[in-house]
Amino acid sequence: MIDPVTGQLWTTVAAAGVEDIDRAVQAADQARATWRRVNSRDRTRLLLKLADLVRDQIDVLAQLESRNVGKPIREAREEVELAADCFEYYAGAINKVGGQTIPVAAAGTSLTWREPIGVCGLIAPWNFPIAIAAWKVAPALAMGNTVVLKPASQTPLTALRLGELALVAGIPPGVMNVVPGKGQVAGEALVNHPLVRKVSFTGSTAVGSQVMRLAAEDIKRVSLELGGKSANLVFADADLDKAVPKALWSVFSNAGQDCCARSRLLIERSIYPDFLGRLTEQCQALKLGLPSDPQTEIGSLISQHHRDLVRQYIELGQQEGATLVCGGEIPTTPSLAQGAYLYPAIFADVRPQMRIAQEEIFGPVICLIPFDTEAEAIQIANHSLYGLSGSIWTQDISRALRVARAIETGVLSINTGHSVHLEAPFGGVKRSGLGRELGLAVLDQYTEIKSIFIAE
Ligand code: NAP
Repeated sequence: MIDPVTGQLWTTVAAAGVEDIDRAVQAADQARATWRRVNSRDRTRLLLKLADLVRDQIDVLAQLESRNVGKPIREAREEVELAADCFEYYAGAINKVGGQTIPVAAAGTSLTWREPIGVCGLIAPWNFPIAIAAWKVAPALAMGNTVVLKPASQTPLTALRLGELALVAGIPPGVMNVVPGKGQVAGEALVNHPLVRKVSFTGSTAVGSQVMRLAAEDIKRVSLELGGKSANLVFADADLDKAVPKALWSVFSNAGQDCCARSRLLIERSIYPDFLGRLTEQCQALKLGLPSDPQTEIGSLISQHHRDLVRQYIELGQQEGATLVCGGEIPTTPSLAQGAYLYPAIFADVRPQMRIAQEEIFGPVICLIPFDTEAEAIQIANHSLYGLSGSIWTQDISRALRVARAIETGVLSINTGHSVHLEAPFGGVKRSGLGRELGLAVLDQYTEIKSIFIAE
């Protein structure tokens, strides 16, 4: 592991090969029968215990995550807390979801059971490692599946600790397996393994599409949480005191490495100059710093390589004719110079068809696009291959609902920049993904429905 703040080797982690994945999948397959025998009340207790252990270890886990990803410790703590909440939430769901009895025409009783799918291969990205691992592991285990989790090769540390804590909690060996390794080796081996019945993948659209092709061979169940290029629509009647800081934070949290980043900021032309002025002022006041410093607002990017990719988009935007209003430079202050830091950037005068307005940059870059009418705002928002998230800012509730209905996306927020809630479904349309995570909706994706008919 390279520390993104120092650029130095920090620790090393084994990388699984194809045989290691096979051993993990075999272990998960053998543990299926044991896990199915654990009754619903005991399964609930075990997941609650795991939630408690995660919460007890919040300092250690947050420090690991912050150092591994370069994210501010404040954000890392919130994400560990979310992971613990997630185990609690799905522990509570275990004895509340079940099948149905259905009034069929034939004489008899039709009923359904929800059954576990089997071994689930879970593949996570590097931007929110422990949170996204928990989003997958918790509902999968809750519904009686066993799992093999492959964290991103850059960020395996909290996932490995989570695996240890599962054993401490008393979850039987083999039920939750964590196998770090390279995507093209361990990831592909997991997706290809014949004993894996379901794959849940979070990552880029390009790899997601490849995962779907591989999984097609055995008709594996697949859910995909992929990239985004979400729009934030601000109408002239919006409360700008709230909309401006939220517009900033709905891109710059986690240094912009967020699939939900509302990085296309669509502003009604009459308020465009005022909005841009306030946004720029607040952007320039953001505090870049060491991830371990509680005052830090923007940490490091994941790696120097990733920062180079983001920097290429800064150069591309200028070549395309957008105006770089602020940011985009590499800090030269001695405490930050070795890290993968980048000053958050704002581009104005962006046209919707520019590449910086179409491609996921996955870094701290906002693209401002003016619009004149509601219809034009909707048309620009939908002019994207993606459809993950987005926001609408207006005091007019009719307009808010009308626009929300018209926007092609999986998740939306009105008058806030935040739309990820543990209890509500989350996921994308178009090339942003397939299926939903979180809420009770995800439980459908970790169960098969068996339909039984009893004749009278
Ligand atoms: P990525 O390169 O697609 O990698 C995601 C995971 O897939 C990693 O564990 C990776 O392993 C593994 N992988 C790579 N190639 C694979 C293959 N051929 N077969 C199976 N697994 C493979 O994505 P990332 O760079 O880690 O994450 C950033 C992307 O994730 C962005 O596009 C972001 O929008 C998206 N994301 C989406 C959501 C959502 O909920 N919609 C949430 C977070 C992130 P390695 O680490 O070894 O490459």
